[in-house]
Amino acid sequence: MMIIMKPNATPEQIEHVIQHIKEAGLNVHLSQGVEATVIGAVGEAHSIPTERFEGLDGVEVVKRITQPFKLASRQFHPENSIFPLDGFQIGANEIVLIAGPCSVESRSQILETAQAVREAGANALRGGVFKPRTSPYSFQGLGEEGLEYLAEAREETGMPIVVEIMSQTQLDLMLKYVDVFQVGARNMQNFNLLRALGETRKSVLLKRGLSATIEELLMSAEYILAGGNKQVILCERGIRTFETATRNTTDINAIPVLKNLTHLPVILDPSHATGHADYVTAVARAAIAAGADGLIVEVHHDPAHAVSDGKQSLRPEKFADMVKQVRAIAEAMGRSIAPIKKPVAVGW
Ligand code: PEP
Ligand code: MN
Repeated sequence: MMIIMKPNATPEQIEHVIQHIKEAGLNVHLSQGVEATVIGAVGEAHSIPTERFEGLDGVEVVKRITQPFKLASRQFHPENSIFPLDGFQIGANEIVLIAGPCSVESRSQILETAQAVREAGANALRGGVFKPRTSPYSFQGLGEEGLEYLAEAREETGMPIVVEIMSQTQLDLMLKYVDVFQVGARNMQNFNLLRALGETRKSVLLKRGLSATIEELLMSAEYILAGGNKQVILCERGIRTFETATRNTTDINAIPVLKNLTHLPVILDPSHATGHADYVTAVARAAIAAGADGLIVEVHHDPAHAVSDGKQSLRPEKFADMVKQVRAIAEAMGRSIAPIKKPVAVGW
């Protein structure tokens, strides 16, 4: 239930409504916008009549919310969620570019790629150290050794690092290193993991499941938000369809639909969405044109020898070219690419 206060409602009236919500056994979510204060009453609100709040002083209108993803919903929180990510903001007018290899393979590989993507205009570095592979015999990631290399790359370039977490057993270790936790498509409904991430105060990049609906994606975001962690970034990464020409099918619709339904930032992963380096730039352009707040792109200096996802990885120079094209689309949309942070490492 959403209680919209009159523009001139006093702090005492707002507090009084909050007390009433609590007495009804519901949780309170306060959103103080420029125009009005909106108070969300979250919980088993369906059995409570709206009249219980309508007569209270300062209340303009009481609305029932039908969407099950109450905290993720734009109804509760009309303004975009904007949160800082070490030197830039996500969810604001500026578009954020996350780039790097699918997997961290060696120290030199991640350091070299980090410098290259940063020079091309990336804002954050991606790299997997725990890899969700279809086969248990494929490379599973470097684990903590990979985290150390990523931390070194962050130090050299000033870019925050985005790393996939597969299980809550990895949480304590990863908390020491990671700036943004990536939840992969295969774990979108790993509810124990989502709850554990909801208890942290680090940003979470939540990828859409291979066959998940938009509503299921938002319900998974709700698990993280319900723990009090408000820093959730949604990522469309292509869905399974009957089409076999590409690895997945980019659901470009998901971008405007999500932007309409939720206040959370929405980004697109054109690498997993297409599975082919030749198509990544075109789909990246489309994502920005459709209103995405950012991109996460796989980049490798030698895709033919990459241990995972080489086929869909851009060479650094191709990534630089993609950034130029995406910048032009962003400008046409009245947006820009977030500026790269000044390097922090000694010696730069
Ligand atoms: C990845 O980002 O390398 C990855 C495994 O992505 P997804 O979970 O979208 O398949
Ligand atoms: Mn990958």
